[in-house]
This record gives sequence, structure tokens and C-alpha cells, in this order.
Amino acid sequence: MKKVTIIGAGIGGLTTAIALKQKGFEVEIFENSEKFVEAGSGINLAINAMQIYKRLGVYEDIKSEASYTESMNACTPKLERLVSANFSKFEKKYGVKTFAIHRARLHKILVEHIGNVKIYLNKKLSHLEEKEGIVTLYFEDGTSHRSEIVIGADGIHSAVRKSRFSNTALRDAEQVCWRGISNAKVQYNYRNELNEAWGNGTRFGFVPISKSEIYWFALINKNKFTTKDIDLLKTFSDYDKTVKNIIQATPKDKILCNEIWDLKPLKHWYSGNVCLLGDSAHATTPNMGQGAVQAIESAMALSICLAEEKTTADAFRRYQKIRKDKANYIVKTSWMIGKMAQSDNSIVCFLRNILTRFTPKFLAEKQSDKTFRLNY
Ligand SMILES: Cc1cc2nc3c(=O)[nH]c(=O)nc-3n(C[C@H](O)[C@H](O)[C@H](O)COP(=O)(O)OP(=O)(O)OC[C@H]3O[C@@H](n4cnc5c(N)ncnc54)[C@H](O)[C@@H]3O)c2cc1C
Repeated sequence: MKKVTIIGAGIGGLTTAIALKQKGFEVEIFENSEKFVEAGSGINLAINAMQIYKRLGVYEDIKSEASYTESMNACTPKLERLVSANFSKFEKKYGVKTFAIHRARLHKILVEHIGNVKIYLNKKLSHLEEKEGIVTLYFEDGTSHRSEIVIGADGIHSAVRKSRFSNTALRDAEQVCWRGISNAKVQYNYRNELNEAWGNGTRFGFVPISKSEIYWFALINKNKFTTKDIDLLKTFSDYDKTVKNIIQATPKDKILCNEIWDLKPLKHWYSGNVCLLGDSAHATTPNMGQGAVQAIESAMALSICLAEEKTTADAFRRYQKIRKDKANYIVKTSWMIGKMAQSDNSIVCFLRNILTRFTPKFLAEKQSDKTFRLNY
């Protein structure tokens, strides 16, 4: 088996390392960070991700550190339900459940599962070159490294992508997201739900990630504020008291703030012996909670293709064929959901709420099944 070099030890890079290792590959990872710091937010792992983690033997470890999410609900700011997607039908069909987990705990579990894969920390890739099938990686500390197969799992601002692929464009969703982990006590009926409340140019979502922690996210349209040093309690003052309690019970210095961008779908995900995976290939807005889940799907698909195909070129071609349409569908659908959920036009908001309330159940289930189904 050939050696595979992965750039980036995020969810995509680590899951790829686990999958490749289990198929007998020698794997190494180069990661920009000096050490793994505890990222102060949570993440929802949908049924398609959990099917893969079950195949990789990681499912039970995640389950024991996470909180079960039985349904996802869209609500008004007062938490009156517009629509509810209950996952029990898909749990039976696919044999796994949805979980919400602290990102740091997920990261720790994945690192524990990579076995003896060497992770070189404090190694920021600057660029790479390929000559006669050998890829030379150049790092910002002045060192270099040679490899036969390189996977760029280095996120939305990927140095691998910038080195090898021209005409790529990031798109600004014009929304900013604040995230935190709260110790607020919420009503018992919220314990297995992800609730997302849609306002007018604002949105607030929350889901338990353990018995005592609520992961929350708050999105605000960029045209609604002038400084990111914003008073969230004031901005969400017309929301239900549960929302205000959650914000209040979060240490202010632990709140993260990110602008929301995605990557315009790429024509190609590979070039020569270099291939993109996760956000570097198909970064999406977070509106479907599918960014990392898609990275996990790509990790599994790429490992299967590399193990089963005779040449690297055949493996990359098959990987792109298996994964590109679905990843692009998620990027496109998530973008549209974000625009609808975050509209600041009162008439559009009114129509949005009526349409959401009366969306036929079979249509919503069809969309969920398309997202959860794996074809490899
Ligand atoms: C607000 C928000 C909420 C989200 N919620 C969800 C959710 O609920 N569910 C979900 O599935 N997804 C969610 N996502 C998306 C998810 O976070 C990403 O899709 C996922 O983290 C992508 O994983 P990745 O491994 O491809 O990239 P990243 O997580 O970005 O990891 C890239 C890694 O590469 C390293 N790196 C970067 N540059 C270099 C370099 N030059 N050299 C070496 N190393 C480098 C980085 O340090 C990092 O460790 C959310 C995103 C946002 C912004």
C-alpha cells in the first residue's frame, strides 16, 4: 500500500486517516496548529455521518460522549413550532441515531481512533509542487516533504486548493454567526431536540450536547449591525425567555464569532496526485448542519476508492463521481435555506412561516432521505 499524506487534522482529515488506516494504508498528517485547543462549540452529527462512524467503529464512543437528537424543529422567535422533523423513521431505516457533541470531545475521540498515524503539529503548508508523480510540500517554517498521494483537508481557506486550482471563489452569505456553550437549564421537553427560531434577519438555534450543556448559535444579517461587539441579549430581546436564559448563562469570553461563507462548487476536486476533501473541496453554509458530515462522507468514499482502484487517478476520478453531485446539492440547498430562514423582509417572513408550517410531510422526508442516504 502507498503512503498517503493528509494536510489538516480537522474532522475531515482525521476521519480520512481512520478510514485509510483501517484499509491498510500508511498515513501521515501535517497540521497547522501548535496543539489541539478545545474549540468552544458543539456540532450536530446527522444520520449519514453516524452510518460512517458505525462502519469505522467510532459510533459507540461518540454516543457515550454526546447527546441524542431525536428531532429538529423550526420555530417562531417565541419557540412556537412551525415544522418538526422527527428522525425515528430514518433511525430504523439506517440503524443509527443523530447526536450533538462538543467539538473538542469529538476531536479527542477521532485522535484516539487514528492509532499510530503520525500527526506533525505546527506545520503550516505554504504551497506544493508536483513533478513526475512526486508531490513536494513546502511549509512556512522553511522545511519540505515529499509524498506520492496528498489529500488537502485544510479547510475553506485551503492552501492545497490555492496551490493547485485556479478560478475558485468563496461566497459571502452576508451573515455572522455567534456560537457558545451554555449551562442554562432548559425545559425537559427540549432535551432531545434541536430547535431553530427564525426571526426577521436573525436566527437562534440550540441543542443539548450533554446533561448540563446547551450548544447554541445565533445568526444575524450583516446589514443589521455595525460592530461585531454586539449585545446579543438586546438583539434577541423579543425572543422566548429560554433563548435569553441560554445567552445569559454563557461566559462572554467563550463566545465564538464567525462570518458565514461557502465555496462556489468546483469543477474538479483533484489534479495529478493531489485531491481535496471536506471544506477545501465543498465548504457549505451551516444551515443544514451538513458541512462536517459531508467531510465525513468524503473521507469514507475516498478511502474506498483508493483501496479498490488500481491507480490513484482512477481512485480520484471515482471519488469525485460518487461525491460531487451530493455535496453540491447540499451547498446549493443550504444556501437557499439560509436566505429564506434569515430574510429581513416582513412579507417574505410571513409567507416563509406559512409555507414552512404547511410543507407536506412526505416532501420534507424525501429531502431528509436524500441527505441521509449513502451510495457507496
Ligand atoms: C457556525 C457553524 C456551525 C456549523 N455547524 C455544523 C454542524 O452542526 N454539523 C456539521 O456537520 N457541520 C457544521 N459546520 C461545518 C463544519 O464545521 C465544517 O464543515 C467542518 O469543520 C469542515 O471540516 P474540515 O476538516 O474539512 O475543515 P476544518 O475543520 O476547517 O479543518 C481544517 C484543518 O486544517 C488545518 N489547516 C488549515 N490550513 C492549513 C495549512 N496551510 N497547513 C496545515 N494545516 C492547515 C486547520 O488548522 C484545521 O485543523 C458548521 C460551521 C459553522 C461555521
